Amino acid sequence: SDKVLTARDLRVEFGLPGGRTARAVDGVDLDVAPGEIVALAGESGCGKTTLARTLLGLEPATGGRIAFGGTPLGRSGKALKAYRRQVQLVLQDPSGALNPRHTVYEAVAEGLRIHGITDDEPGRVADALARAGLRPPERFFLAYPHELSGGQRQRVVIAGALVLEPSILIADEPVASLDASVRGEILSLLLRLKEDAGLGALVITHDLGLAWSIADRIAIMYLGRIVEQGPVEQVLTAPRHPYTRALVSVLPDSPVPEPIVLAGELPDASRIPGGCRFRPRCQEVASGSALPVLGRCEGEDPGVLGPDGGSHEAACHLVHARMAA
Ligand code: SF4
Repeated sequence: SDKVLTARDLRVEFGLPGGRTARAVDGVDLDVAPGEIVALAGESGCGKTTLARTLLGLEPATGGRIAFGGTPLGRSGKALKAYRRQVQLVLQDPSGALNPRHTVYEAVAEGLRIHGITDDEPGRVADALARAGLRPPERFFLAYPHELSGGQRQRVVIAGALVLEPSILIADEPVASLDASVRGEILSLLLRLKEDAGLGALVITHDLGLAWSIADRIAIMYLGRIVEQGPVEQVLTAPRHPYTRALVSVLPDSPVPEPIVLAGELPDASRIPGGCRFRPRCQEVASGSALPVLGRCEGEDPGVLGPDGGSHEAACHLVHARMAA
């Protein structure tokens, strides 16, 4: 499609006091097309929020390329504005996405005003609210955030993105702080927008259950890299990378028989281990199962997974050796 968001060899590095460099995003290839939901999952600190902010043009990439519909994400104000109409951010409301002093109408119309879209503002606002499931929309125009439920506020935030008729939404933990019942509603809204309106979404989450219930594809991120990717059902029912296996092992009804407790802490992005970045925590190394490939685990980066072409892949020497056997 001509409306695909693409990232190639994306890198975000920044200098730290003391002369060290943090590699928050360390070579990521990613595609998000209209009509599909891609989950980006990993622990906090793995770089997924930095990746999202960079895809939105909120943070500069220090390497690699981002494009929408083949057009590179430009630095000029005009190019960035055109891009931002197509690729919209959905935040969680409790993070302060809604201004408490603005009515619902003002909150949703804000995007139109920023983009200088003046024709039929009330009609566009009403349409966006209705698509976000706030009906009849006019009833919400003059309401303030504090008069709404948590779920309604999250719908207003989504309407504020939909009003620009984007092709892709980037949703950072869209339901993390909502009640279970409301979470289901918001997730089915995202699914309906995908199915009825052909919207694409990148959903950033640490919650694999959420990814399972909503995504078509999943990318598992560890220390700035995607270490496993593929169709969500395959990745979560037959995880291959030791890191994914550990994450999946603690889910209810996990296909991994025993819970796996990872050794140590997630290292700092300025101290990414050489060889395989997961090695210091890898349960296959600790148990001795990785012995036949240990030299490579220590000395050779398993590399970057290319753009997800629909096959199930993991960046791990042991997985590669087992599949070749
Ligand atoms: Fe573990 Fe080696 Fe695979 Fe890295 S490459 S995840 S250290 S088995």
